[in-house]
Amino acid sequence: MQLLKMELRGFKSFADKTTLIFDKGITAIVGPNGSGKSNISDAVRWVMGEQNVRQLRGQKSEDIIFAGTEKRRPQGAAEVSLYFDNSDHSLEIDFSEVVVTRRLFRSGESEFYINKRNCRLKDIHMLFADTGIGQDSMAVIGQNRVDRILNSRPEERRIIFEEVAGISRYKGRKEEGLRK
Ligand code: ATP
Ligand code: MG
Repeated sequence: MQLLKMELRGFKSFADKTTLIFDKGITAIVGPNGSGKSNISDAVRWVMGEQNVRQLRGQKSEDIIFAGTEKRRPQGAAEVSLYFDNSDHSLEIDFSEVVVTRRLFRSGESEFYINKRNCRLKDIHMLFADTGIGQDSMAVIGQNRVDRILNSRPEERRIIFEEVAGISRYKGRKEEGLRK
């Protein structure tokens, strides 16, 4: 399943509507420090349901809304849409393209949409369950997460590999069994 396109408006440093189009293959986003590269990956995790604003490098949920600059007034809301190619119907929904949208107003009011239809966060979780691109998946790996893996001790690193390989739950069950 491919991410085709992304639209941001009022999300962090993206005050105006910004459209990113992803071609097949690998896309690299380059730019100076502070230009908004990480904000793009934050936006992906936010739409997929990230509820902990600290994971998006903020203190309170309002921090993800464009805060204004000397020249620009703040935005009243943040909105991000992700467009997925679903021509192989790996998402169980009768559309060949799926658009997931999240919107947050300064009032704290939050909205989710699947193909422009209002939905619950739970509906997004359910739609993307077992696709590997849900909220807690390894689909988006943050900068500090890479550092953590590189700097970890072998025992810690083993835990990460076991999780990725999907054997940690079996190990957990084995340990539970031995204790009995
Ligand atoms: P680096 O190369 O250092 O990792 P980066 O390209 O990943 O940089 P980001 O961390 O994505 O940069 O962007 C940080 C910028 O986003 C900062 O300039 C910060 O002021 C701006 N920013 C973050 N939140 C907001 C907000 N709510 N309103 C306006 N600007 C914001
Ligand atoms: Mg960055």
